[in-house]
Amino acid sequence: GVAVEVAVATKVYAGGTDALQATSLTLEAGRTTALVGPSGCGKSTLLRMIAGLEAPTAGRVTLDGEAPEVLQRRGELAVAFQDPSLLPWRSVAQNIELALDLARLPRNDDRVAELIALVGLDGFATATPAELSGGMRQRAAIARALVTAPRLLLLDEPFGAVDELTRHELARELPALWEGGGTTTLLVTHSVAEAVRLADRVIVLSPRPGRVIADIPITLTRPRG
Ligand code: ADP
Ligand code: ADP
Repeated sequence: GVAVEVAVATKVYAGGTDALQATSLTLEAGRTTALVGPSGCGKSTLLRMIAGLEAPTAGRVTLDGEAPEVLQRRGELAVAFQDPSLLPWRSVAQNIELALDLARLPRNDDRVAELIALVGLDGFATATPAELSGGMRQRAAIARALVTAPRLLLLDEPFGAVDELTRHELARELPALWEGGGTTTLLVTHSVAEAVRLADRVIVLSPRPGRVIADIPITLTRPRG
């Protein structure tokens, strides 16, 4: 996994919205951290900054000491958003395969099939996104994010539209998957229950502008795959 360092990062959007106050945090390689806090407190902003999709107004983000773009270029970083951006003219399997292409990894039908099964989309490999429900599209996006075994996995409310039963199933399977690969994972969620279930550390941001107001280790033991 990758060590993430956010050093006194501040974000003020054009128009003057103060999204994030000087925020510093370190994510240890291979650990899973959940980021929680009230709506609008800057969780997505922080995640996008770590992904290199948003520049901090002040401060610095480094991944193993380098700019996020370096990891991005090597295909070692994967992001899944609440609103999954699947290519509409490609099947579920092709959308997942595309992540391998973009990371310049060899195509691997077995791995793609394995991830489709893991997220409960068996039988939908050849379906297009329009043929899926919102929850199923989110699950396809999670499979796409995981297929490259990224060194850094950033998940922004990825389970919002996923039904309760599947979410339960995913929550059971996912930690083994990303811990097994030594992936550093950051999960943005509004659900404290989900945070405690999936992460080994929970960081709480204050209302906007966000700053870290709690940083809690989770020592809950859970079954591991
Ligand atoms: P959260 O993920 O915690 O809900 P966000 O990071 O999405 O919070 O947003 C933090 C604040 O920044 C909010 O007030 C939001 O409206 C504002 N914001 C987010 N993205 C943008 C943007 N691209 N331009 C201007 N303001 C933004
Ligand atoms: P949503 O909450 O957006 O309706 P879910 O992910 O909760 O989607 O889907 C619930 C279950 O219903 C899925 O696990 C799937 O088995 C089934 N399902 C949903 N949409 C379809 C569909 N278009 N065709 C077949 N089964 C579906």
